[in-house]
Amino acid sequence: MDHLSMWEATAGERKTRSTLVDEKHCDVVIIGGGFSGLSTSYHLQKMGHQTIVLEKNAVGYGASGRNGGELLTGYHGPMEAFAQKKGFETAQLMWELSLDSIDLVESISKENGIACDLVRQGDIRPAYKASHLDSFKRDQEYLAEKLNFHEISVIDRPEMKAELNTDFYHGARINERGAHFHPLKFALGLADAVEDLGGVIYENSEATNIQKDAANKVIVATTKGRVIADEVVVVTNAYAGNLSKTLKKSVIPVDSIMIATEPLTQEFMENLIPQNRAVSDSKNLLYYFRRTADNRMAFGGSGRAFSKRAQKLLFDRLREGMITVFPQLKDARVEYRWGGKVGFTQDFLPYIGQLEDGTHFAFGYCGKGAAMAVMAGKVLAETISHPERVNNPLKKENLRPIPFHSQHAKGVGLMKFYMALQDKYGK
Ligand SMILES: Cc1cc2nc3c(=O)[nH]c(=O)nc-3n(C[C@H](O)[C@H](O)[C@H](O)COP(=O)(O)OP(=O)(O)OC[C@H]3O[C@@H](n4cnc5c(N)ncnc54)[C@H](O)[C@@H]3O)c2cc1C
Repeated sequence: MDHLSMWEATAGERKTRSTLVDEKHCDVVIIGGGFSGLSTSYHLQKMGHQTIVLEKNAVGYGASGRNGGELLTGYHGPMEAFAQKKGFETAQLMWELSLDSIDLVESISKENGIACDLVRQGDIRPAYKASHLDSFKRDQEYLAEKLNFHEISVIDRPEMKAELNTDFYHGARINERGAHFHPLKFALGLADAVEDLGGVIYENSEATNIQKDAANKVIVATTKGRVIADEVVVVTNAYAGNLSKTLKKSVIPVDSIMIATEPLTQEFMENLIPQNRAVSDSKNLLYYFRRTADNRMAFGGSGRAFSKRAQKLLFDRLREGMITVFPQLKDARVEYRWGGKVGFTQDFLPYIGQLEDGTHFAFGYCGKGAAMAVMAGKVLAETISHPERVNNPLKKENLRPIPFHSQHAKGVGLMKFYMALQDKYGK
């Protein structure tokens, strides 16, 4: 869905970057100009490696410039379940990595003077059903007892008004570590920081082929030029094309859509979300929303449409959802509607690793990548620069394509149908 996003409309003037037209040499060539790619480049430049980023469209064109801007801790599922699956030590490292990812976004912003409207007021997960509070409490206990994390509280309905001015939810879990920001301002600021460190970014430069020469150098062909490097990183996530069949067939793209209202008054928005936290609810087909710096409501949900008419219906339904949560917004004009692709993996965990041919990758943040993709870029940079020092709990070995991947759209459709039924009739 290529509608103008509110982030694009409010990011200020955008620097245009040239297209690669001839042959260039560098240490590491990075394919994909989202948070993962820009962060990999930023950290490699800091470690003294010369990088080139190739972006098919423009910096932040993919999910990084379209997301809800919610910087959240944890993964797609409770940490206890990951500890059972991966072992406690790995789960502990995973948890620490997720906490550090938000600190990383904050420190990069501060260090480079990136004005990205970062608000560090925590995040809140309101309970769509009363039974969800039980799992919140179990999660809170696990994090406190096993992972020594005490910044989560669970509140019941009577306390909700101080957090969200709605009767739609039964209570909530609050995590003081969460944050929100303007995702595209951050992506554009990070791109500038890469260039300040001597990194090079080409836009409108689609990588079309990767091969190796006799000297084991990587040659990445683009539509009009080529890059020769020692290492290649592919971070195209849910926007993967045919560059690497394994990567394309390992990521499950899931569409998500957003709307944003016209700017309202600060007083009005403070009344809706008094603590200015990032909100994402506990529905299977979740709603996520937050205030913006210019006092709009940015409200997201799931949705995929094949025709213009279906798109209109989807956005209308999302607006209805917003008004069901906040009837106070019934007269607020919706000014922007847009969507993007979220990258999922089969086991709902991000993957960071290397293919058998040496290609480095990171993808599949499962809707929690605004901070984690920035961290993944740092992990990739450290892995390339000092592999012996890295203990990566998200390391993915022997990546294999998902069987029947071409059927994923049908699979996602069925899954969403089932999730909607669960939301309606489940406990
Ligand atoms: C609508 C929406 C809302 C979301 N909300 C949140 C949220 O609130 N919080 C959160 O944590 N996460 C959220 N996410 C997820 C988050 O945005 C992503 O996890 C994160 O941005 C992934 O970054 P990335 O760099 O890996 O991928 P992307 O930002 O998607 O970047 C991939 C880039 O690769 C480029 N590319 C593809 N093929 C080529 C090629 N052959 N050559 C060159 N370039 C190529 C694309 O143009 C694209 O720019 C949301 C996602 C969407 C779509």
